[in-house]
Amino acid sequence: MTKQRQVDQHIGELLSGLLDGELTQQQRQMVKLHCEGCAECSENLESLRVLRKRIGDAALSEVGEDKWREHMNDKRVETPRSIGWILFIGGLLVVAGIAVSAFLFSDEIHIGMKFLIIAIYGGLATLLYSVLRQRLIERKTDKYKDVEI
Ligand SMILES: [Zn+2]
Repeated sequence: MTKQRQVDQHIGELLSGLLDGELTQQQRQMVKLHCEGCAECSENLESLRVLRKRIGDAALSEVGEDKWREHMNDKRVETPRSIGWILFIGGLLVVAGIAVSAFLFSDEIHIGMKFLIIAIYGGLATLLYSVLRQRLIERKTDKYKDVEI
């Protein structure tokens, strides 16, 4: 497309380019000159500009709503879930501790049984530790994902 041809014609396809900031300095100048002498293209440019702004606003408010929902999900779901986990694990550890010490300090229980109990609770503690560690790693990974997006 030569410069001469564009000046003679309406510049409809350049209008959106102008709004997108895709035009060269020369093209912008040409659009400006054309719009000064052409009411039709001038009006088109204005209505395009209004349309773009509306779309932009709609997109922004949609994003805002998503963020808001995410935020609410975090507060409504994640925090009680975390508290639930802490209470559950904490309670379990207390009960386990009481049970283990009751067994260990009881004279009526055979030493072999004591070792068995230690093995069971030791294994349970190791499992809990690995689950917690896994969750911490997953959280760190999630944070990385958030940053990347
Ligand atoms: Zn025109």
